[in-house]
Amino acid sequence: MTTLPPGSTIGILGGGQLGKMLAIAAAQMGYRCHIYAPEENSIAAEVAAEFTCAPYDDVAALSTFADNCDVITYEFENVPVAPLRVIEAGTPIRPNIKALEIAQDRAGEKRFASELGGQTARFAVIRDRQEADAAFEKVGFPAILKTIRMGYDGKGQARVSEPAAVSAGWAQIGGQPAIAEAMVGFDAEFSVILARASNGDIRFWDSPCNRHEGGILARSSLPAGPLIEGQQAEARRLAAAAAAALEYVGVMTMEFFATADGPLFNEMAPRVHNSGHWTIEGAATSQFENHIRAVCDLPLGATRLTAERVEMENLIGDQAADWGGLFADDDAHVHLYGKGTPQPGRKMGHVTRLYR
Ligand code: AMP
Repeated sequence: MTTLPPGSTIGILGGGQLGKMLAIAAAQMGYRCHIYAPEENSIAAEVAAEFTCAPYDDVAALSTFADNCDVITYEFENVPVAPLRVIEAGTPIRPNIKALEIAQDRAGEKRFASELGGQTARFAVIRDRQEADAAFEKVGFPAILKTIRMGYDGKGQARVSEPAAVSAGWAQIGGQPAIAEAMVGFDAEFSVILARASNGDIRFWDSPCNRHEGGILARSSLPAGPLIEGQQAEARRLAAAAAAALEYVGVMTMEFFATADGPLFNEMAPRVHNSGHWTIEGAATSQFENHIRAVCDLPLGATRLTAERVEMENLIGDQAADWGGLFADDDAHVHLYGKGTPQPGRKMGHVTRLYR
């Protein structure tokens, strides 16, 4: 891999807040970003040099985009992979398509983690309604139905507490291929966030303790406390093995439940992650900068904490309405994504506070 010099153009598939923060980091480092997204009012495009607004399966538009980029990355993992295979011959895609494919498939990512020695919750694949009862019998009740594809922020999920509730759960997720996953008794949740360079160099940020509310990340805190700190090494081994097996280049995130039996892998994201937003102010190098460094084949930056304690709080729905109050707090690093109307469950921004 040859290093891309500043001035090169980085294509980003996806036009949301992750793309916006990647583009801001890239601009600071002297790179240009070209956003590709189907939505006309992309918040990432507002801070990027160029924007292509087209569907993810438009091979002609993707090819023109690829011709204008020196490398392509993504901030959204639910991009169809077939059109990407067409463009990858001409422009490198980092992280590669294999990583994208595994992360798009809830069952596939769990199998992948198991093969590498990781523990996961019991699960069974359900392709149609007929398979559902047997799948729930296998994993037991209560369980969660999760769609195999396109699930995020608790979307595409239904809790199923007893056999009589299977039909309603199946209807709730729209009758799509899914997994039945056993409910896990966990004491805390955490993520492993790493950056991997093409030469195999890996940097980990300290794992934050993540609190979810209604399936959506509410807050990430560091230090994560003794329970998570005690499980971090094992979780990192799995994440590093996964990144190496995928010949991964960029930032990768794995989410875990901290259980009495050790870390239980939940899911992976082949990209920068909400639980890493604190790294903008709370680490020597942010996840966004290290992702850009990795995909441009620059050396990775240091990941150490810049404070004793860091708290990142998401602003969801109308929590961003009191922006005046947030800006009045002179210790708050306020990030507002510039999305129009707040909707319940919509991530509108986040606030990071450092304590020394
Ligand atoms: P996911 O979309 O898989 O990340 O799920 C979102 C959140 O729902 C997780 O972060 C947990 O808080 C909760 N959750 C997901 N799966 C399980 C499970 N098997 N047992 C208990 N809680 C879960």
